[in-house]
Amino acid sequence: MMIPTEPIGSIPRPPSLIAAVESGKHSESELDALYEEAVRDTVARLEATGSTVISDGEQRKYHNFLTYCVHGSANTAPDGFQIPFADGHMRRMPRLMRAPFHYERYADSYLATAQRYATVALKQAVISPSALSLMYPPEGLPGYSRDQFIDDLLGEHETEIRRCLAQGAHKVQVDFTEGRLAVKLDPSGALLSSFIDLNNLALNRFSSAERALIGVHTCPGADRDSTHSLDVDYAQLLPSLFELQVGNVYIALASEPDPVRVLKIIASHLKPGQRVFVGVIDPIDPLIETPQLVCERILLAAQFIPPGQLGSTDDCGFSPFCDDRSTSRETAFAKIAARVAGTALASAILRERA
Ligand SMILES: [Zn+2]
Repeated sequence: MMIPTEPIGSIPRPPSLIAAVESGKHSESELDALYEEAVRDTVARLEATGSTVISDGEQRKYHNFLTYCVHGSANTAPDGFQIPFADGHMRRMPRLMRAPFHYERYADSYLATAQRYATVALKQAVISPSALSLMYPPEGLPGYSRDQFIDDLLGEHETEIRRCLAQGAHKVQVDFTEGRLAVKLDPSGALLSSFIDLNNLALNRFSSAERALIGVHTCPGADRDSTHSLDVDYAQLLPSLFELQVGNVYIALASEPDPVRVLKIIASHLKPGQRVFVGVIDPIDPLIETPQLVCERILLAAQFIPPGQLGSTDDCGFSPFCDDRSTSRETAFAKIAARVAGTALASAILRERA
């Protein structure tokens, strides 16, 4: 029994790359070279942790995991939907100004870059349709109904996932950080239900074999060492989350005060054929977890979840927004090495028990 272990996605960018981007003094080709070197270094250092599944560290996802695909779109304005974090800071999405909604780029381009350097499996994270649906202004757009927008959005999302699968992604992970946030914004649960329905409209376009390679990630957010929805009870989110038609669910758990309670909820909603990757590393906690702690967390999860349906992961990316300097690259790689070593320890113990 080998428990699979996967990252969520982002690794803090090298400080020299962040400084070069922020200075505004570099040509596109100079920045390209810096991004390329960041991807090469990230892949090499992730492989050095012993990981058999890695990402490109999202080094090239422009400003963030959320709106990389529409970064630079001429038909958007910067004053869109706001995501408030617990420490008082705010992240803002672009607002769609006119038809048509379309992606500027698809995430398979990041995968193709990382494949030039990787010798192990690469997964690719993409943003959910529900997150991007927040770009459509609440007052509507003349000549472009919300239904037309949703049609275009679902088409682009489907295209992106198909391109990532065709490019050989080990998994395609749909980032759904706004799921837990939706419960905070609308405690009635109606907003969350609408997000689940929208994402399922896209997921239902895929075969069950394809959906086995697709996953969804939920977390309370992790930006500048702060969260947007850690105070939302998982009991209000997880039953709906398992309604998503995906083969893999990646759940932040290391930061939860009562993991046993969460594991019981997961166990009662996990469907046959689904694998749940539980978070065993907290990217916000500056302390580096030990392999022993990771092992204990997995063995605890295995008391509730059949080991054949269990995996381990990080609670979230280490730097979902590209200017976030709250965690160093060194800390991120050390935490990932602990996840890999601790998962191997737990696998050996579970193998002996089987
Ligand atoms: Zn996350």
